[in-house]
Amino acid sequence: MAEIKIQVKGYKCERCGHEWIPRKKEYPILCPKCKSAYWDKFNQNLYKYPQAKKV
Ligand SMILES: [Zn+2]
Repeated sequence: MAEIKIQVKGYKCERCGHEWIPRKKEYPILCPKCKSAYWDKFNQNLYKYPQAKKV
């Protein structure tokens, strides 16, 4: 039997760069490290203008 590399789907936080493998099937809501709800959305406006979140 040959050795193979098994790749597992994981997620990466756009905020802190943390990478993790989800244990649940559901799409993660928060980054487990920085707890950001915007871990999958890289939006520079949120960094520069936090007030803009209100909309
Ligand atoms: Zn994060």
